[in-house]
Amino acid sequence: MSKAEKTAIVTGAGRGIGRAIAISLHKQGYNVVIGYAGNDEAAEETKRLCKDNDIEGEVVTVKGDVSKEDTAMRLLEAALNMNGRVDVIVNNAGITKDNLLARMDEEDFERVVDVNLKGAFLLSKAALRPMMKQRFGRIINISSVVGVHGNAGQANYSASKAGLIGMTKSIAKEIAARNITANAIAPGMIETDMTDVLSDKVKAEINASIPAKRMGTPEDIANAVLFLADEKSSYITGQVLSVDGGMGM
Ligand code: NAP
Repeated sequence: MSKAEKTAIVTGAGRGIGRAIAISLHKQGYNVVIGYAGNDEAAEETKRLCKDNDIEGEVVTVKGDVSKEDTAMRLLEAALNMNGRVDVIVNNAGITKDNLLARMDEEDFERVVDVNLKGAFLLSKAALRPMMKQRFGRIINISSVVGVHGNAGQANYSASKAGLIGMTKSIAKEIAARNITANAIAPGMIETDMTDVLSDKVKAEINASIPAKRMGTPEDIANAVLFLADEKSSYITGQVLSVDGGMGM
């Protein structure tokens, strides 16, 4: 049994936003399960960065595709093995396969929806039973500003992120009476590998269009996760918290 009282699962925690979330939760005293797709080195680095803080509690990595049920089961098992609880799940794993609608392959549509939306469905479903038993739970889904507003070239991605918002609200209604909340966070442009593919020119244009005049950091999103995960946030459910420097206003 771990000495930490609370346990969190963060998918897509090998890099970027998920890494910052995993580190922040561990700093708050959570055991953390780091989910990732295939980059072993990055996931081990996240684990090392968590451990660097010398906090009590365990940190484990679980490799697997979130769009497969087996991965959800293994993530859950890893959490329950630590202290028999799963307090927080953060459905953060996500991919893009951008193209204009006329050129978008059916496969690219399906893959993005499978990872970004079905992945969150599978882990939320798996975590529900232990959360109901312990009469506490926090489901936090990482959506996007484009799930609210849409974006040219991202019909698949926006559909998955808008779907995530609808699913979050439906789940929230189902489980609110059990002291389990479900909320979504809608990040704007955040500095990670996902946005690093943009040219400096495009980044400068985007920055100029953001009221805060800068891209966000993964820690900006992690701070919002800590807020929603807190026991004091028990009366906040079914919400979409924009963390976007005003981009979506
Ligand atoms: P990122 O740097 O590209 O990292 C993605 C993470 O997801 C990696 O750890 C990756 O694992 C994991 N992953 C990808 N496909 C997976 C799969 N099929 N199964 C399991 N894990 C998978 O992404 P990010 O920018 O941090 O984005 C994190 C989340 O925030 C995503 O849902 C994204 O849509 C959302 N978001 C990002 C931005 C932004 O500006 N960056 C804005 C709005 C929303 P490996 O490391 O093993 O490859």
